[in-house]
Amino acid sequence: MKTPGICIAALVALSVSAVPAVAQTKSGLDKLYILNCGEGVAGDISRWSPGVNIGKSMEMSENCYLIHHTQGWLLWDTGLPDALAAMPNGQAPADPRAIYWHRPKTLASQLEAVGIEPAQIKYLAISHTHPDHIGNVEQFPHSMLLVQKAEYDWPTPSGVGRFKPEHPVSKLEGDYDIFGDGSVTILATPGHTPGHQSLLVKLPKTGAIVLTGDAVHFKENWDNRRVPSINFDKDKTLASMQRIADVLAKEKARLWINHDKAQTDTLKQAPEFYE
Ligand SMILES: [Zn+2]
Repeated sequence: MKTPGICIAALVALSVSAVPAVAQTKSGLDKLYILNCGEGVAGDISRWSPGVNIGKSMEMSENCYLIHHTQGWLLWDTGLPDALAAMPNGQAPADPRAIYWHRPKTLASQLEAVGIEPAQIKYLAISHTHPDHIGNVEQFPHSMLLVQKAEYDWPTPSGVGRFKPEHPVSKLEGDYDIFGDGSVTILATPGHTPGHQSLLVKLPKTGAIVLTGDAVHFKENWDNRRVPSINFDKDKTLASMQRIADVLAKEKARLWINHDKAQTDTLKQAPEFYE
């Protein structure tokens, strides 16, 4: 049996050479900006928490997150369409219980303010394909989309694809370590939509953060594990919330809830940033 002997020798060599890499802790990740990608008022938050808070309205934030790594820039979500910024009264929803959105400033102007050209965005990672998250994808026609295959292939009512077929894309099937050093990892968290994903970011000074996407919409729902009636799959949503809770415990991470305006108001906004 010659082959197994060779394999063991190769493994020993690998494990010896891997030691310095394991000891090294510094990653290429150095900055995270929170961008304002919309603000809104939900008409009736029981839409997100069935049977609870009926008829109660709530302000909602909508963030995009701009992340710098020595390998390039990553944009997490693109928010509501920039065209909304030109509508002084915002956009009323068809269903008055849903969110009345407006956009105080464009994504493009906020990127410009921190000195970033759209062409510099190497990766465009999208939590899911609801319109308040994909509004500006085509401002970045050459950026590599990082999206779950289950989301990309999710049929639309009109039969038209969720992204332009010519847009470069990596269709993911599960978690994905974007820069290969463990600093920024996509977490598959299906339930809100079939291929919903969240993002684990391990900043060198701030520490680890999980960006929720819409795995949960606000803290009260997180604390009580409430699932919106509009979600694609309730059981998967609950499993994904538990998964995020496990990641928070393991990584000693904080949870940043995208739509939770009360929390967003406590965080630094661009052009300030987290390191
Ligand atoms: Zn949303």
